[in-house]
Amino acid sequence: MEQPIAVTRQSFDDWMVPVYAPADFILVRGEGSQVWDQQGKSYIDFAGGIAVNALGHAHPVVTAALVEQAGKLWHLGNGYTNEPVLRLAKLLIDATFADKVFFCNSGAEANEAALKLARKRALDKGNSSKNQIVAFNNAFHGRTLFTVSAGGQPKYSKDFAPLPGGITHTPFNDLAAAAEVINDHTCAVIVEPIQGEGGVLPADPAFLQGLRELCDRHDAVLIFDEVQTGMGRTGELYAYTQYGVVPDVLTTAKALGCGFPIGAMLTTDELAKTLGVGTHGTTYGGNPLATAVAGAVFSSINTPEVLEGVKQRHQWFLDGLNKINQQYPIFSEIRGGGLLIGCQLTQDYAGKAKQITQLANEEGVIALIAGPDVVRFTPSLIIPEQDVKEGLARFARAVARICS
Ligand SMILES: *Cc1c(COP(=O)(O)O)cnc(C)c1O
Repeated sequence: MEQPIAVTRQSFDDWMVPVYAPADFILVRGEGSQVWDQQGKSYIDFAGGIAVNALGHAHPVVTAALVEQAGKLWHLGNGYTNEPVLRLAKLLIDATFADKVFFCNSGAEANEAALKLARKRALDKGNSSKNQIVAFNNAFHGRTLFTVSAGGQPKYSKDFAPLPGGITHTPFNDLAAAAEVINDHTCAVIVEPIQGEGGVLPADPAFLQGLRELCDRHDAVLIFDEVQTGMGRTGELYAYTQYGVVPDVLTTAKALGCGFPIGAMLTTDELAKTLGVGTHGTTYGGNPLATAVAGAVFSSINTPEVLEGVKQRHQWFLDGLNKINQQYPIFSEIRGGGLLIGCQLTQDYAGKAKQITQLANEEGVIALIAGPDVVRFTPSLIIPEQDVKEGLARFARAVARICS
């Protein structure tokens, strides 16, 4: 047999388009909430592949679903439907407000579909000037040109002008500011129930409730981007149920596939009619391999044990992080919901989130940032207590180093 090509971290710099700056080691294997690098060093995984690996690595039920489907049927294209996609659609519909589902391959694609639906719906109603989209500062909705424009972080979009027009941003959680720009020309409002990439900032219930009322008053589509909050991350299947505010469109991805690329847009019968045959599509969306995996993921996550377990784990993290913060006061706030937790650094440590996660890597734990001033944790929803303890002990050592 031919030898595999030898690869090191340097290979990344040599061969890859440099849009990422990955850590200086290469992970080769994972099991549950532990991963190992090329040298055999172990890490506790508090990042979960950026809120994706909701059941950890190599979960036996998910792996079995993948292997079983891999031996049967991978892909057909959307000229032919398939059993796993229909079963997954039914699971999502029965568990949510939705009547219809559109499948795609990522969070950005799900949001792209949602925004296109909203524009076309207004046009179909004969209102060609009802095309304005309202979004929020600091939001993140993906990296396609449309979704990066809807996102509220100009640093991600400014170099790609001219951008799609008709998008207005107002401050997150400022209902009065939103009310000033939402009017009869608004076709959609897109919002994350908890801003993830933007710093783990939960929406105020009154803010989402107010957006719901404004959308009703002006016949605009309310889109909840639950790509990060979705599929159990907050301790509910989707965060909208916690808020008691039902959107018209919900987008989901990340945890839905637990690492197999898949996204979905959930909506009502009435809105789904907008996207008739041929108006939108994707080659891979809803393919049997992805949807068989997501079906197994869904059934594993949507259980009282897992969802209750997320709330319990939230408390384990809070207790541990508060204890670290008592000894080394570097966080001014610890916030978020379920297993989407953000630790805001104090003024003294502003800008040091990346450095802290690098030290955490050295100590054997993987954490995320959410902007330069927030350390973010999005571990597996079923991370064992022992791994939480060990990971936090390692994280504490990293914090001690940044403080010394
Ligand atoms: C990650 C994320 C996206 C983008 O998802 P991709 O799969 O990277 O396209 C969109 N919205 C939110 C809230 C996200 O966290």
